[in-house]
Amino acid sequence: MKVHLIRSEGFDIEDFNNVFNLLKTTKGPIEFVPSEPIVLPESDNFIHYEDLKSFEKKHMPEWSMVHSYMPEERVFPMTKPVFTWEQLFQICQDFRSANNIPDTDYVMLLTEQANDLNWFGAIDESMKNYFIHTADWDHYFQNNVDVRFPIAYEIAVWLLRSMMFRNRIEIIDNIHENAQGCMMDFCQNKKDITIKMRTADVCPSCTELITNRDIRKNYLKQLFDTMESIRKNLLFRQRSVLLNEPSSMQIRGYRKDIYLRDLGDLQINLNPKEKTLYLLYLNHPEGINLSCLIDHKEELTAYYSMLTVSGSTERVESVINKMIDYRQAVDVSIQFSKIKNKFTTALGEFGNQYAIEKVGDKHKIVLNRELVQIVD
Ligand SMILES: [Zn+2]
Repeated sequence: MKVHLIRSEGFDIEDFNNVFNLLKTTKGPIEFVPSEPIVLPESDNFIHYEDLKSFEKKHMPEWSMVHSYMPEERVFPMTKPVFTWEQLFQICQDFRSANNIPDTDYVMLLTEQANDLNWFGAIDESMKNYFIHTADWDHYFQNNVDVRFPIAYEIAVWLLRSMMFRNRIEIIDNIHENAQGCMMDFCQNKKDITIKMRTADVCPSCTELITNRDIRKNYLKQLFDTMESIRKNLLFRQRSVLLNEPSSMQIRGYRKDIYLRDLGDLQINLNPKEKTLYLLYLNHPEGINLSCLIDHKEELTAYYSMLTVSGSTERVESVINKMIDYRQAVDVSIQFSKIKNKFTTALGEFGNQYAIEKVGDKHKIVLNRELVQIVD
């Protein structure tokens, strides 16, 4: 079973890749396929939020359904452009036609554009086209949530709903108006979405419904595993700060991919240059002064040749020479801050322990190396 994920241009490519990588970490028969970004046409419609309450409220479609949200410094009343559900589903449909997507495949548009009924996501009457709203999650999850989690969660929930129900009316009929920590909670007050994600559960009546619907078990397993890893991640973020317990880290395979084990096996995506520096500092807990990087040329070259795909010997040499040139240390510092940013996005303030930071006259990763495991 294939699910095509399409990204509208305003949804950050890195966030999109992160969502995709997160979905990929759970094994199963559902295959997610990323696509080229698309540019949405201008919208003639606007949504007007009179106040915070209206921002946080979903509206029922005429045939009946709901969801809604938002944070940052938002000043009300506020008006912004929106797309109608019909417009968003039409974009999925156009994508199908343009790319000869089989009717059996699923198409999901991930877009930063708001929709007229103010939902987190929705499905069309074919039960094969969806949109997921990718913006405004900061309003519902404070302390800069990593947006990949709520977005991936919505993707999993909508796929599950399309397997549980024959049509949209059935979804509306079975949705829980009062939040009970079930993935079928309607969350008319969009704030309730955090409860639903923290439980990642299915209530007894929904369990019965799923049992009666003859859904393939391996589909269910993959979707539940995805929701469970998101739940673990959200809880870990809270608890690790509370208990001062960082996640263990695993470096895997010949590409030395970095995974945080206790965050639902979350991958931290570093590019080859960043990863080259990261592996060096990881291997040197004592720290390295930027002016001494030149002493580690051989080790850096070995990492970079292993990680880069476009690597002629000359190109590797020139990248490494630049990296170890103290006069260009500012470039290395920029890499360090990008690395730090990726860890703090995933871990909140806790990410500092995993970053390469200046301590005295050296840079180092302070993380307890007992938490680091390297596996082939
Ligand atoms: Zn339920």
